[in-house]
Amino acid sequence: MRKIIIAIDGYSACGKSTTARAVARELNYRYIDTGAMYRAVTLYFLDKHVALTNPKEVARALQEIRISFVVNSKGNSEAFLNGINVEKEIRKMRISENVSQVSAIREVRMALVEQQRKMGKDCGVVMDGRDIGTVVFPQAELKIFLTADILVRAFRRQKELLERNDLVDIDTIVENLKQRDSIDSSRTESPLRKAEDATGIDTTHITIDEQVDEVIRLALTKMIQQPKSKD
Ligand code: C5P
Repeated sequence: MRKIIIAIDGYSACGKSTTARAVARELNYRYIDTGAMYRAVTLYFLDKHVALTNPKEVARALQEIRISFVVNSKGNSEAFLNGINVEKEIRKMRISENVSQVSAIREVRMALVEQQRKMGKDCGVVMDGRDIGTVVFPQAELKIFLTADILVRAFRRQKELLERNDLVDIDTIVENLKQRDSIDSSRTESPLRKAEDATGIDTTHITIDEQVDEVIRLALTKMIQQPKSKD
């Protein structure tokens, strides 16, 4: 079967990463969490006090950043920033509260999209984010767009944070998700939107297993189809 690119986009905390990771494992594909890349840049900018409104400072800081992913002993991919494992740090609320402002910056997007395209060029990849099906890989064979009720998303995110020993009240999480949805959808650079040829899946009332099964079923259909002719 031919290897394809699977793009999973959608709002924050709709289960994109969990679905993408499980689909990649099942298909033996590479999983790339592009949100982690924007989070790692945000961590660097916050720690180095980079002025977001100063394009020169932003450009200089971007030159100093190297992001990579390493698969740990449990088979999960973890984000590294300049050789340091930042997987735990980038999930904290201080990053969630600033990442949408950082990801709206044109220079940041240009640098990360270029890296994402390189990572996916050999196909056999599941990439999740906000602009994968619209900007990073508009030619992706399979595009999924996830949505879910805001409270369901907030409780899922709260559980994830608790598993990392981070207790955050539900109102704070709801506010953060709303704020990020709003900034991500209204920004000038690559706003979050469903690609015309994406399949929408509402995950409010379905389990992770059902989400994963549905994406795998769609992927297998694409994998046995003949590639589209280029002319
Ligand atoms: O997926 P996650 O919630 O970790 O993403 C964090 C933030 O990174 C998003 O709210 C969005 O601002 C940004 N992002 C983006 N484009 C992507 C992936 C994430 O702008 N492809």
